[in-house]
Amino acid sequence: MIRVLKTSFHASSEDLDRLFTCNRISAHVWNDCLHFAKSHFLEHGEWIDKTQLQKATKGKYPIHSQSIQAVCHKYLHARDNAHKAKQKGHSHIRYPYKTKKHFPTKWAAQGFTVHDNGRIELSPGIYQCKRQKPIVVWVKRVPNGVIKEIELIYDRGLQLAISYDDGIQPAMAKGTRIAAVDPGEIHSVACVTEDGEALIVTGRKLRSVKRLRNKKMKELRRKMAKCTRGSRQWRKYRRALHYVLSKSERQLQQEVVVGDVEGVQRNRSNKKRRRIGKRVRSRKHNQRMSQWQFGKQYEYMKYKLHAHGIAIAKQDERNTTQTCPVCTCKRKPSGRIYRCSCGYIQHRDIHGGCNILSVYKYGEIKPMMTQIQRIKYLRIA
Ligand SMILES: [Zn+2]
Repeated sequence: MIRVLKTSFHASSEDLDRLFTCNRISAHVWNDCLHFAKSHFLEHGEWIDKTQLQKATKGKYPIHSQSIQAVCHKYLHARDNAHKAKQKGHSHIRYPYKTKKHFPTKWAAQGFTVHDNGRIELSPGIYQCKRQKPIVVWVKRVPNGVIKEIELIYDRGLQLAISYDDGIQPAMAKGTRIAAVDPGEIHSVACVTEDGEALIVTGRKLRSVKRLRNKKMKELRRKMAKCTRGSRQWRKYRRALHYVLSKSERQLQQEVVVGDVEGVQRNRSNKKRRRIGKRVRSRKHNQRMSQWQFGKQYEYMKYKLHAHGIAIAKQDERNTTQTCPVCTCKRKPSGRIYRCSCGYIQHRDIHGGCNILSVYKYGEIKPMMTQIQRIKYLRIA
């Protein structure tokens, strides 16, 4: 299985500078991709393809040719994902358009050498017929297995994301049961199986971390608004903001998965929603929604379940929280218990999970064949 190790590293100050430069160059490549794609479209009336984009960028930057290619691929990936989302009816999603100042640099198999003692040489490739000397970094631990690629990312300082194949085959699943998982907010995840077992994983701690972060960030943003943009004080606040953000990120995810979840912007600003006459959600609601981080959670679950040979499918959860499975009337649950006038009563999250399971199995919301036997609770610190 492909796994990712995210790690800090040591390097000489000269090589650190060169690494920062790498990410600036990668951003340059990204910005050029935007530009090439646009002018190609204006000239030919069609989208630039992989070969054309690679030809346009090849050999023009002082980083490894595979690192340049990686940026091109990311651009194409982001563009195609936006296209897919548009086709699905998410008309507000934009094609990649934002220029960047920094962009992660990726080294593929031919671009690096890893030594057992933690020394890693990253190749900046050949530029203007000259092979440039490698950038040397030191990591504490080299992962066991075949290293596939190394990415230089920025998260409260530069870090390496090392993807490797641990050589372990994912297990074969033993059972054939189906379970529904309802990602909620207070109880982070509720899980219900066909034969009436239920598990609730609570994430109250996580929520409190998020709340605290939001509070701190709001205050810092307010302070920043009072300063001149770019001034010393402003920069100081901005640094603090980044610090708070990355620190809580760390508290929220013990392990990091770098999946191919290229960012498509989901939410549009309230201003824009208002202009086009859409309902404006309250700030509180938005804050909650965005923090569900459903995409992240899903990718993470998929990755974790895969190791145990369990497949995962998405199920439209529309109406599942509101509909009573017995009399099919709809009501908004308030509090943690769903109570219907017909006498049906259930824990809110279990109720949602059962309904999702039912829609998945029968295509409609029906009462469960078996009663929920027992609910197990799991608290994450
Ligand atoms: Zn009812």
